[in-house]
Amino acid sequence: MSFRSPVFLFSALGGLLVATLAFLLICESAAAKQPAVTGVRLGQNPPSTAKGTTRVVLDLTSAVPYSAFLLGSPYRLVIDLPEVAWTTNGGSKQETVGLVERLRYGHFRPGNSRVVVDLMGPAKILRHSVLTKPDRIVFDIAPVGPARFKPGQKVGLKGWEPPSSESIPLPRRKPDGLNGKRVVVIDAGHGGVDPGAVRGKTYEKRITLAIANAVKVQLEKSGRYRVVMTRSRDTFLELRERVETAHENKGDLFISIHADTHPKKNTRGASVYTLSEKASDKEAAALAAKENNADAIAGSPVDPSVYSDETIDILRDLQRRQTDRHSAIFARMLTEQLDTKGVGLARRKAHRFAGFVVLKSPNVPSVLIELGYLSNKDDRQMLQTSRFRSRVAKAMLASADRYFKYVDDLARR
Ligand SMILES: [Zn+2]
Repeated sequence: MSFRSPVFLFSALGGLLVATLAFLLICESAAAKQPAVTGVRLGQNPPSTAKGTTRVVLDLTSAVPYSAFLLGSPYRLVIDLPEVAWTTNGGSKQETVGLVERLRYGHFRPGNSRVVVDLMGPAKILRHSVLTKPDRIVFDIAPVGPARFKPGQKVGLKGWEPPSSESIPLPRRKPDGLNGKRVVVIDAGHGGVDPGAVRGKTYEKRITLAIANAVKVQLEKSGRYRVVMTRSRDTFLELRERVETAHENKGDLFISIHADTHPKKNTRGASVYTLSEKASDKEAAALAAKENNADAIAGSPVDPSVYSDETIDILRDLQRRQTDRHSAIFARMLTEQLDTKGVGLARRKAHRFAGFVVLKSPNVPSVLIELGYLSNKDDRQMLQTSRFRSRVAKAMLASADRYFKYVDDLARR
């Protein structure tokens, strides 16, 4: 039989088809079998003392590599994994066991999931290992004196490194198809390993994303806006990355969405914040400090340059002042529209200001909105309803329309 015979060709094609199908099946089962963390457990030895060894166990469906390091101020153990599914409930544990004050876990960045363990004090990693049948990763940590604390030193399985933030591209503006549309950047606060405020099973990061999505739909439906989301899934972003997304996409407006908690259970309502070095009040200053702590919460090293002011350049200073003025104008319009559309405002002055890092774009007018308090039962329930989301979205559209009309009128003068 010649190799060119139709029979051979047929069987070769058939073989190729079988191989392709087999390949697709393997791919499918590989995708279905993404490793999952089924439990995050804490234990201590001896029990009921912070002096002994504290054990952190990650239960897995299959073996994964890991890498871990310690961080100071505040003391933390950070465990990086490849991207895994989480079949555990929630994303945080608020209990205190041994040296562990509480912990958070979730998606950190593409290809990287993370567990952040808050520690009561300085510690060292005594042991770390992968165990099989059942698959799990175990860390034993023990307290040490502050002088013997070694932050930043990496331990883990050789041959695996979590991806670096530089290797992940930001969503970019499409070069065409804008048709004169304004670009509004919507920033769903927190995400992934940083849950934001937590009350029971209610997570700020989920509320902010659901509301951001509703705002996107409403703004885009008008045909007047293109909306860029800083995140559209449950992933972590550094504050710097949120600011950069607005800049990279040539945003005309940046809105960061949050929900707060308050020690007083009856405190409720929405507030709109803009950037200012001097806070409007003590509570606003405390809130900014809390929101600015997001990077530390997720175990990211905090870049001090983000906090410093680079206003030596006069042009930059002028631009900054112009941006601040526009931010304040939009904040006032948004506050009015929230009120008109039935989104309850906080009882005290609803437009306040403080030094939020996420609002530090030099040329994109930016506001941060705290839509309510998870510590208030009524707010907590309301924040999760589609009725509330729709009110917020309508207020955002109406205030954006007013704001850009103001900007256009100003340009025509
Ligand atoms: Zn927040």
